[in-house]
Amino acid sequence: MKDKTFYPKKSLGQNFLQDPNVIRKIVDAVQPRPDDTIVEIGPGRGAITSHLAGKCRELILIEFDQDLAETLQKEYETDRHVRIIRDDILKTDWKEFLPANKVVGNLPYNISSQILFALYSHAPDVGEAVFMVQKEFARRLVAEPSTKDYGIMTILTRLYGKAEILFHIPPTVFFPRPKVDSTLVRIRLDSGNNQDIDDKAYFHQLVRTAFNQRRKTLRNSLKKITEDRFIPSVDLSLRAEALTFEDFKRLYHILKGDSP
Ligand code: SAM
Repeated sequence: MKDKTFYPKKSLGQNFLQDPNVIRKIVDAVQPRPDDTIVEIGPGRGAITSHLAGKCRELILIEFDQDLAETLQKEYETDRHVRIIRDDILKTDWKEFLPANKVVGNLPYNISSQILFALYSHAPDVGEAVFMVQKEFARRLVAEPSTKDYGIMTILTRLYGKAEILFHIPPTVFFPRPKVDSTLVRIRLDSGNNQDIDDKAYFHQLVRTAFNQRRKTLRNSLKKITEDRFIPSVDLSLRAEALTFEDFKRLYHILKGDSP
């Protein structure tokens, strides 16, 4: 995209990719195909966008910054395969642009969790996500039990799919440079792990409640949910971080009264 005088907005997490090699590696990870519908969150100045346009059936760009959205609109006004939505990704109705094979983006890091929760609530309509996120956040998606990174994000990611770390990226490839390292992750959305979880909201509440007081034992943190009932086959003297994803599922089924 042609440059014009533009001051990056910190409040919108604007750190623009500058390095052509890193951009190429990201596009290689996305692997745009001629029959893909691809959604890009926060296209910004189009660093990734320009390598996706023309390589897929439909490209939908969601950009909150009005100036950037306007520039993108001009750039792609003659391309009928590109659609631009000027809106906040957290407020827009995802049904406007789903289903899509791929949702991609160098995300505004301050709202990465909220974007992932929104993605997961539309999981059946998305094939996979390729996101650039803060390195520490990426670690939470793939963490093992009993580590400090293991938590709500880990369990919910397992519930809706499978995350994989692709590669790490230093601050030097952005303008302005962020204070943190970044990581490209792929999340394949897959209903295999959640077909037996009918009440997803209840599962979310269970996991949130357990981890919100992660220093307490489950017997204490889940008191309001378990109401001191006897819970067979899950050790409530443990802390939430010691429970595997399968343990959480077992706990859910017991609390729901599902037959084994
Ligand atoms: N994709 C560009 C790149 O890699 O150079 C820009 C990435 S920058 C880290 C994040 C982008 O998300 C910015 O363009 C910013 O304006 C946009 N953004 C921030 N908050 C947003 C929101 N709530 N909804 C949609 N876009 C948002």
